[in-house]
Amino acid sequence: MIDLQTSTIVDQEIKELVIPIDNVAHVQLGNSLEHALLVLVKSGYSAVPVLDLSFKIKGLISKTLILDSILGMERIEYEKLADHHVEEVMNSKVPRMKDTDTFTRALELSINQPFLCIENDEGIFIGILTRRAILALVYRHVRKRQIIEQP
Ligand code: AMP
Repeated sequence: MIDLQTSTIVDQEIKELVIPIDNVAHVQLGNSLEHALLVLVKSGYSAVPVLDLSFKIKGLISKTLILDSILGMERIEYEKLADHHVEEVMNSKVPRMKDTDTFTRALELSINQPFLCIENDEGIFIGILTRRAILALVYRHVRKRQIIEQP
């Protein structure tokens, strides 16, 4: 259990906050944009990780990136969805961390990212850490301290 009793949460590891890969919606290199859009719409997420066949993180794909890529001058070119692949459109700059990194690092990276990809020492994707989970822990910590410090 992450310890909320101590005066600091900053040096704790983030392992326990990670949503494991089995519960993370994702797509693979080679998947069509149509498949990726289906995954995004059905899961309700705005962006998901793109993995290669050895489960290494290669990028992030989002509804916005896909829709941008099929915007023609005069119409939306839906036919492109089947003919193009996620690697042509994905963002290859992925905010990532190790599961042994500290909470402070997660807090810092999450300022600009709704979620962070977590990998092990071999670079294999093991899950994601959402800004929601980070904020929830900070909130619990702040509440606990308020209760302890009440006169
Ligand atoms: P949340 O903080 O739960 O609103 O999630 C923020 C973002 O993290 C979502 O928009 C997704 O891009 C991503 N995300 C959260 N949970 C998952 C999941 N189980 N699978 C894939 N992506 C997720």
